[in-house]
Amino acid sequence: MAEFEGKCPHCDKLHYSERRDEVVVCDCWTYCPLCGAMMTPYTPDLATGSYGADGKRGVTILMVCLLHSPPFYSSLKPVEVVFTHETLA
Ligand SMILES: [Zn+2]
Ligand SMILES: [Zn+2]
Repeated sequence: MAEFEGKCPHCDKLHYSERRDEVVVCDCWTYCPLCGAMMTPYTPDLATGSYGADGKRGVTILMVCLLHSPPFYSSLKPVEVVFTHETLA
């Protein structure tokens, strides 16, 4: 059976699917790029008004790794893998 192979554009990890149109989200964005630990979903203390003050409007913190001091705030987003290569199994 034919399989489709897709590579995550962020971490180069290979994913496989039997359907080309399947949407697969690589989980690399949930891991800390510094230490490799799984990060914690980040909940801002201030709901609004906290962005833009430093000119970084549009940068949204999604995950945080609490193993560092100060904590590492990640703005990585879920990456969709596009299946481009057909592999013949
Ligand atoms: Zn990835
Ligand atoms: Zn970390």
